[in-house]
Amino acid sequence: MARRFTATFWGVRGSAPAMDGTTVRYGGDTSCVEVVCGDHRLALDLGGGARRLGLALADRPPAPLTLLLSHAHYDHVMGLPFFAPFRQAEARILALSPVEGGVARLAAELMRRPFFPVGPEALVARIVDLHAAPGAVFEPAEGVVVSCAGAAHDGGALAWRIDFDGRSLVYVPDHEAGDAQTDRTLAHFAAGCDLLIHDATLPEAAPRGRHGHSSWGAAALAARRAEARRLALFHHHPEAGDDQLDRLAHQAAETLPGTLVARAGQTLDL
Ligand SMILES: [Zn+2]
Ligand SMILES: [Zn+2]
Repeated sequence: MARRFTATFWGVRGSAPAMDGTTVRYGGDTSCVEVVCGDHRLALDLGGGARRLGLALADRPPAPLTLLLSHAHYDHVMGLPFFAPFRQAEARILALSPVEGGVARLAAELMRRPFFPVGPEALVARIVDLHAAPGAVFEPAEGVVVSCAGAAHDGGALAWRIDFDGRSLVYVPDHEAGDAQTDRTLAHFAAGCDLLIHDATLPEAAPRGRHGHSSWGAAALAARRAEARRLALFHHHPEAGDDQLDRLAHQAAETLPGTLVARAGQTLDL
């Protein structure tokens, strides 16, 4: 019998939180995805959605957790000071990140006056930081293989792949499609995955120039090239309201069957 492999979206926005009446159904918190592989749990990025993920985890018996960070932009780390497992002395957390100094450094930078009232000493969990660079492969728990590749993004960002029990998930939260070499590398990296979670921040008619992000059309092209089984559009623009995302969901599913627009609170089975 196939073992449990799920992805739950806790935050699906990019760039900035967007909490207003137009973002109720898709959610306004920024990037955070929980992945469960059998009895091991991982969290992809600690954007604003990490606050609610942390609360959900705090209700369970402590279990080892692996964090995979893509990069240190605010929308991917703003939930760090509010992530409840960091405040539990019995928590055991492995943090894989491209940020020099990892979670320890991020906590020191984010949790200090005048920006934050409590210092990083509040994070009493046992956190092991490991540096991740493109091409690195880790096995945080038996049978859970995690690898990373470089995405095209201002200051750099990692894309992550999780392979477990014959299935795979690829997470490309912030990536500007268009550079042939990087796109080829990422297509190879994501080849044959069961779920591709991909940056779809930009409107299709984005003005020319560098944006650091992709449109949903570019995400669909990436999914086709990688022959991904399913595509989840992610990292929604803060001004993309529910009705707009509904229209996108309809259009994208017609263009590339199996495509969905990620929504906070949604769990996908792989
Ligand atoms: Zn972002
Ligand atoms: Zn970014």
